[in-house]
Amino acid sequence: MGTRGKQRLGKVIVIRIDLHTHSTCSDGTDSPADLVRQAAAAGLAVIGLTDHDTMDGWAEAGRAARELGVLVLPGVEISARHEGRSVHLLGYLVDPVDPALLAEITRTKQSRQTRLERMVAKLTDAGLPITVGDVRSRTTPGSTPGRPHIADALVAAGVVAHRDDAFAEWLADDSPFYVRYHAPEARRAVEVVRHAGGVPVLAHPFRAGRSGGGLGEKAIEDLTDVGLAGIEAAHPDHDVDATARACSLADRLGLLVTGSSDYHGRGKRARLGEHLTDPDSFFRIRERGQGSEVFG
Ligand code: AMP
Ligand code: ZN
Ligand code: FE
Ligand code: FE
Repeated sequence: MGTRGKQRLGKVIVIRIDLHTHSTCSDGTDSPADLVRQAAAAGLAVIGLTDHDTMDGWAEAGRAARELGVLVLPGVEISARHEGRSVHLLGYLVDPVDPALLAEITRTKQSRQTRLERMVAKLTDAGLPITVGDVRSRTTPGSTPGRPHIADALVAAGVVAHRDDAFAEWLADDSPFYVRYHAPEARRAVEVVRHAGGVPVLAHPFRAGRSGGGLGEKAIEDLTDVGLAGIEAAHPDHDVDATARACSLADRLGLLVTGSSDYHGRGKRARLGEHLTDPDSFFRIRERGQGSEVFG
């Protein structure tokens, strides 16, 4: 690691680590290389690249990491479910060609395509002036499509001013326009990440009123029994109570904790490095991950 990303605070050296970010390979707005550039500019020493259901950004981010002296922890944010509710699982340092992992995320990506068409059809039926082509033109070819791309088409059509407004008015989980897509059971997702040599960390477990926060403490205990390694405690969608709850649960279950911005570029209000991971957690993830290596 170079001097970049370290700040002297008296005698303490702080290493800034943000382990959950998105690029244009899913629903972020920065290319993988731009994301690493932004990380360098934000004074981060390490970022985790965790696009939804894809590892396609790894190679480009890895090249940028070597050029810029930032470390990139390669990962993937797997869309999963528990009792019908959405759960997001971060898988770090997985083997990017593991067949079982690829089969799961490929199935989810395909289902997300059909779901995009069905959501657009519902919105069109309600009189909104967008087409599937409009939405697809807002994604990078081959990337994982998601509601943020539909939001971008609604912004471009002048229906709303910002992605956030599109979610609030049209795309929320409980909206009549919401359509589900296939996702593996959370337990299966943990097992697949472990089998691929990766380190499974539960993303934003206690996120209020949004998708991705659908697990109770008993369910997290059950996931720990099949190999869950950590939980994200500091996250923009966690209030102080949620962060504290995640930390004490991690303590009780022997899980590591992470903190991150879940940066999506211009699409969301979170800034890179808004929440950080303790270096000790990063080093433990790096030690445990067998499927690939940190880039940089
Ligand atoms: P999807 O997986 O397609 O259902 O979409 C989930 C994505 O939408 C996640 O990346 C979330 O971060 C993003 N998202 C959820 N709610 C909002 C919101 N209110 N504003 C902006 N992005 C959101
Ligand atoms: Zn996203
Ligand atoms: Fe998420
Ligand atoms: Fe995310």
